[in-house]
Amino acid sequence: MADNVLKISGLKVAYGGIKAVKGIDLEVNRGELVTLIGANGAGKTTTLKAITGTLPPCKVEGTITYLGQALNANKSFKLVEQKLAMVPEGRGVFTRMTIHENLLMGAYTRNDKAGIEADVEKWYTVFPRLKERSGQLAGTLSGGEQQMLAMARALMCHPTLLLLDEPSMGLAPIMVEKIFEVIRDVSKQGITVLLVEQNAKLALQAAHRAYVMESGAITMTGNAQDMLNDPRVQAAYLGE
Ligand code: ATP
Repeated sequence: MADNVLKISGLKVAYGGIKAVKGIDLEVNRGELVTLIGANGAGKTTTLKAITGTLPPCKVEGTITYLGQALNANKSFKLVEQKLAMVPEGRGVFTRMTIHENLLMGAYTRNDKAGIEADVEKWYTVFPRLKERSGQLAGTLSGGEQQMLAMARALMCHPTLLLLDEPSMGLAPIMVEKIFEVIRDVSKQGITVLLVEQNAKLALQAAHRAYVMESGAITMTGNAQDMLNDPRVQAAYLGE
């Protein structure tokens, strides 16, 4: 039996007259790394925002369940308590707090002080640059460093489901490599991941399953490895 962590059914989102998402179905099972790929403006970010209840006022239809429970719109502050963490496009770090404070904020639902300190040290080991700059304000970090911090902060709550929006965007290749290494590791540790990415090749190489989104609709879905080898995907998204 498939063990759904996330299930989206018939999701439609319209911003005024713009139909950004046109009735999509998508599910992510426990332990899976699922990627949602597609061109600019396909509706990927809108889909993630519908999950987290962070859409601007607009018309939303359909259902989204997380661990079998309907997610209520506009309850984003409760998500971390439910172990659903999101790293938004543009990272969303607390720019006027230090790196160390950002990491501690990620653990605000926990009260195991020793465990929190151990996790902070773990992330400093994974991302030594964050350790070197632990007292520095997050707003002064480079884009790649902010991405590292945003991911580490999201993981401080020990999420069941991690949502990532375009983690590679605007990063130097070496940073992208590091971020994807961490995404794979996180997945291997059993955290369920939904990854929105424009870099289809990297995303398909890392993922178990994939969905392709075009103009608000899911046009293809399947095993990520099969999609990497699919001529239609290669022509449209892999530049081959
Ligand atoms: P990108 O990779 O560029 O972020 P995306 O696949 O995530 O693209 P969305 O950001 O979800 O796409 O946008 C889907 C469509 O909805 C686009 O046509 C976009 O212009 C429109 N849209 C997004 N946000 C808003 C908004 N707040 N108001 C009006 N239209 C919006």
